[in-house]
Amino acid sequence: MEDKIRHVICPYCGCLCDDILIEMTGGEISGVENACTLGARKFLDDAGNRLKGPIMRKGGEWVDISYEEAIDYAVKVLSEADRPLLYGWSGCMTETQAIGAHLAELIGGIVDSTTSVCHGPSILAIQEVGHPGCTLGQVKNRADTIIYWGSNTIEAHPRHLSRYTNYADAYFFHNAFRERKVIVVDVRKTVTAEIATEFVQIDQGGDYHVLSALRAIIRERGGVIPDMVAGVPKAQLIRVAEICRQAKFGALFFGVGITMTGGKYKNIRNAIEFISELNRYTKWTISPMRGHSNVYGSNEVFTWISGYPFAVDYSRGIAFYNPGETTAVDILARKEADAALIMSSDPGAHFPRVCSEHLARIPTILFDPYPSATTHLCTLQIPTAVNGIDAAGTAYRMDGIPIMTRRFMETGYPTDTKLMQEIYDRIRKVKEDA
Ligand code: SF4
Repeated sequence: MEDKIRHVICPYCGCLCDDILIEMTGGEISGVENACTLGARKFLDDAGNRLKGPIMRKGGEWVDISYEEAIDYAVKVLSEADRPLLYGWSGCMTETQAIGAHLAELIGGIVDSTTSVCHGPSILAIQEVGHPGCTLGQVKNRADTIIYWGSNTIEAHPRHLSRYTNYADAYFFHNAFRERKVIVVDVRKTVTAEIATEFVQIDQGGDYHVLSALRAIIRERGGVIPDMVAGVPKAQLIRVAEICRQAKFGALFFGVGITMTGGKYKNIRNAIEFISELNRYTKWTISPMRGHSNVYGSNEVFTWISGYPFAVDYSRGIAFYNPGETTAVDILARKEADAALIMSSDPGAHFPRVCSEHLARIPTILFDPYPSATTHLCTLQIPTAVNGIDAAGTAYRMDGIPIMTRRFMETGYPTDTKLMQEIYDRIRKVKEDA
């Protein structure tokens, strides 16, 4: 028997596309429509790759253990640790993130999300100069000029262009595809650059200079800038500034190509101030291209609970936030953490080697349905239901819109929310009894 399930949310990237159609045959996913390659693989490859149950490293070997044993181990390790690190949280739902933040407070640990290695600088800049943003619906229906800066959108967020920008139909345009202009700024000619009306190729690390030059031109101070700025001819900068000024509604989207290069949060601050300059003449907005499906949610949830969006250290008994000191990479590089809980992320694939080596030395508990690079570093891996497939919850799209993901099949795996709640309740009891 075949079933078609409509309006499924893709739980892969920050676009959280909500128009996925899943075909089920005999209780298994047999087809996916409307998703991009990344999203389709998330659904179709799902069942075959999952761990069957928790695995624990014992005497250099992996041993299958029960969920009860896994929870016992997690409770013991986390309740006895002096400086536990709770990291990840971008691939799980806000309900689980909230328990994670409360658990960090309970055990005096550090709770940090993958934000600290992607758009942390964007948040620091927004804290300084604000965020002239808007929803993706506004962009889709109103924007006639789009900038992708340091973001190879076609490969990283493949449906962003078809749902919200270049290829999307728009309420206020007759022929949106022909009426829109797309400017791509990057250090190399990406596939996204190939569809651009104007491609601006800048030198590595030249973002701050180019943004400053554009701001000077918009402020009628173009005379002060040299003939070439970070590899970009002055004539092209004047042309780009004019396209931006002529826009009726513009939207700048930026990726980790600008947040994680030299200048870091100062680049984003400069980009926001560039948008502020443009808003003297016309209407512009700026938004980060958030990667993981619910990384935005982690910032929201941690802020509601602690007052800070990521890198929150509860070791003083109150929330303390100092990115560069309380961020996961820094805690691990200084070898401070004596236990780690990694939720739905893969630091083994992305962190510096010194951090991975430290994770391999301490008790590290990984919550992930699939084997990953972090599996090789951890002492215990607990597979859970996959959010958006066999678990449901709330996730925040990259523009800050909360969306309820759907559970459309039953596999018998426990959800990470249920397991985290059990760990929290048991540690709380341990603390109360002590
Ligand atoms: S763009 Fe992102 S959310 Fe949309 S289908 Fe592709 S991976 Fe999924």
